Amino acid sequence: MVDPATGEAFDEAPDRRPDELDAVVGRAHAAWRGWRADPAARTAALLAAADAVEAAGDDLAPLLTREQGKPLAESYAEVARTAARLRYFAALDPAPQPIADGRPVRSEVRWRSLGPVAAIVPWNFPLQLASAKFAPALAAGNTLVLKPSPYTPLATLRLADVLAAVLPEDVLTVVTGREPLGARLASHPGIRHVTFTGSIPTGRAVAERAAASLARVTLELGGNDAAIVLDDVDVEGSADRLFWSAFRNCGQICMAVKRVYVPARLHSDVVEALAQRAKNTVVGPGLDPGTQLGPVNNADQLARVERYTDRALADGARAAAGGHRLDRPGYFFAPTILADVPADSPVVTEEQFGPVLPVLPYDTVDEAVEAANATGFGLGGSVWGTDLDRAEAVADRLECGTAWLNHHAELSLAQPFAGVKESGVGVAGGPWGLYGNLRPFVVHRPREA
Ligand code: NAD
Repeated sequence: MVDPATGEAFDEAPDRRPDELDAVVGRAHAAWRGWRADPAARTAALLAAADAVEAAGDDLAPLLTREQGKPLAESYAEVARTAARLRYFAALDPAPQPIADGRPVRSEVRWRSLGPVAAIVPWNFPLQLASAKFAPALAAGNTLVLKPSPYTPLATLRLADVLAAVLPEDVLTVVTGREPLGARLASHPGIRHVTFTGSIPTGRAVAERAAASLARVTLELGGNDAAIVLDDVDVEGSADRLFWSAFRNCGQICMAVKRVYVPARLHSDVVEALAQRAKNTVVGPGLDPGTQLGPVNNADQLARVERYTDRALADGARAAAGGHRLDRPGYFFAPTILADVPADSPVVTEEQFGPVLPVLPYDTVDEAVEAANATGFGLGGSVWGTDLDRAEAVADRLECGTAWLNHHAELSLAQPFAGVKESGVGVAGGPWGLYGNLRPFVVHRPREA
């Protein structure tokens, strides 16, 4: 494993062969029988798991920062969110639902688990995204085989050790290794639900693989979220929030602001406010206490961010801040604010997934909404202004799963999370996430006289 703050290898994880999955999935299937049978024992085990994760924070968080790059406080926040998610789903109870349609039968929907679930996750929030898979799947009574990204397997393996002390054997198994391990897992005939978070092209490949066994598929995919700034915005009052909505985790958030649309007359003010913040941000190793922004996670991603930026600059964009790698070891890229970017530059139309933000001027709100909706992505969006009714009316026109006013990417465990267009299939989060891991089973019986 490479530490992105130094570019040097510091540890490694097992490289499991795809043919080892037969035994892993077989054991997950065998463990399902006991795990699904006793909801009260399951709830107790998941609450104990939450306590164990919390208690292991000092062990998990520094390792997460070491392999992922994010500031240590954000790694602690990931650990806390993992524990909170376990508690949230442990408390949900998928109660039977009677069907009252006037017929002389008593029919009722009872919720049943699916079987072994395969979860495949990326490298930007290794623990948080893993828990977004295993907490609802396990709470529903399924067992789960989890494959982390080959860039960030270590904290997940450590987490699995922590959970192994409180969960029954083989209820949750972490498998690490290179492709085709994920492809094989997605198409394994013993898997009943494939839940994937990652890029759109890989999501498409995963759906194709899962079609072999007709397993249920949930896909949480890429985004290219737009923020629309209205002409009554408080520029200085909003700039910190807008900046960090784009740059937290080095912009490596599916739901980060990835492009900003600003009224032409405010364009230079907003560019300047964001550029000031970019220049003042402390960039450094995530383990350094003063660091606000860590490195990009891996060399391929750094090259990708650089490619998008260079192309925009070659197309006539101006870097109001940054625009280049930092001249130091590791995968550091200067926080970058781009002005004068052509609207069809790939940094605007595609997902660059890095610390780069194009700021584009518009003349009418209709034009801004049209531009925001003009891509194949549909994860989130936001509208920024002081008249909240007007801002909400604009937000209502965004083609995405979640829209915020004067904020972005603030998510509750209790809300549904569902991208539209190419950003996703299925619903995660809240009770919807639990039901995504359950199947309805209906019993009809004649009404007694
Ligand atoms: P990726 O698609 O390259 O990889 C995701 C996972 O899939 C990794 O574990 C990878 O090893 C595995 N994988 C690769 N090829 C596979 C195959 N053929 N079959 C099965 N699995 C395979 O994504 P990434 O670069 O790790 O992560 C960044 C992407 O994830 C961005 O597009 C980002 O927007 C997206 N993302 C989406 C969400 C969301 O909730 N919508 C959240 C976080 C990240």
